[in-house]
Amino acid sequence: MPNMLINGEFVPAASGQTFAVHDPATEDVVDHVPQAGAEDARRAIAAAGAASRSWRKATAHEKAEMLHEVARKIREHTEALATLLTCEGGKPLVENRDEMSWSAACFDYYAELQRNTRGRVIPSVEPSQLAMVLKEPYGVVACIVPWNYPILLMAWKVAPALATGNTVVLKPSEMTPLSALFFAEQCCDHLPPGVLNIVTGHANVGRELVVSPDTQMIAFTGSFATGREIARLAAEQVKKTHLELGGKDAFIVAEDADLDIAVPGVAWAALLNAGQVCTSTERVYVQESIAARFIERLVDFVRSLRLGPGIEPSTDIGPLVGEKYRAKVEDHVAEARTKGAQILTGGQRPPSFERGFFYEPTVLVNVDHSFRIMREETFGPTIPIMPYRDFEQAIALTNDSDYGLGANLYTNDPLKVKQYYEEVKAGSLWVNDPLTDNDAGPFGGMKFSGGARELGEEGMEEFLETKHVHWDFNPNRKDWWFPY
Ligand code: NAD
Repeated sequence: MPNMLINGEFVPAASGQTFAVHDPATEDVVDHVPQAGAEDARRAIAAAGAASRSWRKATAHEKAEMLHEVARKIREHTEALATLLTCEGGKPLVENRDEMSWSAACFDYYAELQRNTRGRVIPSVEPSQLAMVLKEPYGVVACIVPWNYPILLMAWKVAPALATGNTVVLKPSEMTPLSALFFAEQCCDHLPPGVLNIVTGHANVGRELVVSPDTQMIAFTGSFATGREIARLAAEQVKKTHLELGGKDAFIVAEDADLDIAVPGVAWAALLNAGQVCTSTERVYVQESIAARFIERLVDFVRSLRLGPGIEPSTDIGPLVGEKYRAKVEDHVAEARTKGAQILTGGQRPPSFERGFFYEPTVLVNVDHSFRIMREETFGPTIPIMPYRDFEQAIALTNDSDYGLGANLYTNDPLKVKQYYEEVKAGSLWVNDPLTDNDAGPFGGMKFSGGARELGEEGMEEFLETKHVHWDFNPNRKDWWFPY
C-alpha cells in the first residue's frame, strides 16, 4: 500500500485509517491508500509553509533543473503510470499514455517559462525615485484535482505553482489517488522536502486545505457545485481562488462541413474518455439541410466503436468512473426519453458486461433546451443532436447555457468562423480540430465554468502576486503637508 508524501517522507494517515480504490471496469479493489484527516492536512500545510522560505528564493536555474527532472521521470515511468491510471480511472491505456506525455511537456514548458518571469520598472513620480512592479509567489498553494485527467490536471497546477516559487499541498481525487502517489514516489524524489506534499482523502480533507489560515491560494479543478462551495469558504478569508469548473460544450456543424471529417470529429469530441472530459461535446447543432445525412452516418460510426476495459488494446470506450456518475447519465437519458427524445443507438448498460460501470454510447434526437441533457453537465457518452435553421440560431443555442468552457465548429467559411469567435461566450474555441490543447494557449472558462486560466503565460500569472515598490533615494524628502 502506498503512503502519502509529507515533508519529504512517505507516511500513513495519523489515524492509521485507509480506504479502497476500485477498478471501474471490474469493480474490484486495486489497492488501499491512507485516509487523511484534519491532522494530516495540517502537517502537510506546515511542511509546505516551512519549505516556502527557501523555495521562493531558489534561482530560476535551480527550479528549471528540478522541473525538467520531473518531466524526464514522468516520461521514464509512462507505462507504469498510464497502467495504474487505467486501473483506477478506467480511461483506455492509449489515452493515458498521451496524458503522461502532455503532463511531462507541461513541466518542461513551465521550467522554461519561469526563467522569463519579470516585473517592470515604471515611471517614478520624482527623478530621485525608483518605482518597480514585482511578482512574487503566494506561499502555500492547495491544489485540489478531479479524477478524469488526474496527472495532467495536477501538472497544469503544480508545474506553474512550483515554477513561480510557491510550495504545494496536493489533494488528488479519492477515485484516483494511486497514480498521484506513484508520481510522488517515482518522479518527485529529487525535490526538497516540503516543496510538494500529497494527502489522500475525501471532501473533508479538501475543505481543511481551503479553510486553513496557512494556505494562501486554492487552485481547484472539479464540479461547479464544489467550486462554488470552495469560493464561498475562501471568501471568508478573502483568499485567492483559481477555479476550473464544469462545462456543457456545444459543437456546431455547418452545412459546408466535410462529413468524412465531421462525423468522427464529433464522435471523438463527445466520447473521448467515455464523455468524461470537461470540454466534452455535450450538445450538437447541425444545419438542417445536412442533418439527416450527418445523423445517419454518426449513428453508424458510433455503433462501430468498441466498448470494453481500458486495459485491453482493442477498446475505444472504457467504463464510467463510478456508479454515481453512471446513474446521472441514466437520469438524463431517462428524462429525455420521457419528454419525447428518440434514442437512435445506445441508451442502456451493455448487456454483455455483468460488472463495471459501462454505458453504451448514445445518440439522441428530438431534444430541446428544456431537457436536462441539454442544460446540465452529463459527463457521459451521450450525443444529443438538434438541427438549426441558420448560423444566428446556432450561435444563440451555443450561448444558451450557464456554462462557458469550450465550443467547437466545423466549417470552411471564414465569415462563420469570425462570427463564432466574436460572439460565442466560452474560454476555448476550436475550429475544425476539436479539443486540442496547446501548452502555450490559455485554457479555462467563462460563466459557471469558472474564470481561471491554466497553461500559457496566463496560467503562470495566476500563481503570482503583484507588488509595487516605491523607493526614494533622497534622504531629505519632507514634502508632506503635516507640520514638522
Ligand atoms: P468534484 O468537484 O466532485 O471533486 C473534485 C475534487 O474536489 C476531488 O478531489 C474532491 O475530493 C474534492 N472535493 C470535493 N468536495 C470538496 C469540498 N467541499 N472542499 C474541498 N474539496 C472538495 O469533481 P469530480 O467529480 O472529481 O470531477 C468532475 C468535474 O470536474 C466535472 O464537473 C468536470 O467538468 C470538472 N472538470 C473541469 C475541468 C476544467 O479544466 N474546467 C477539467 C476536468 C474536470
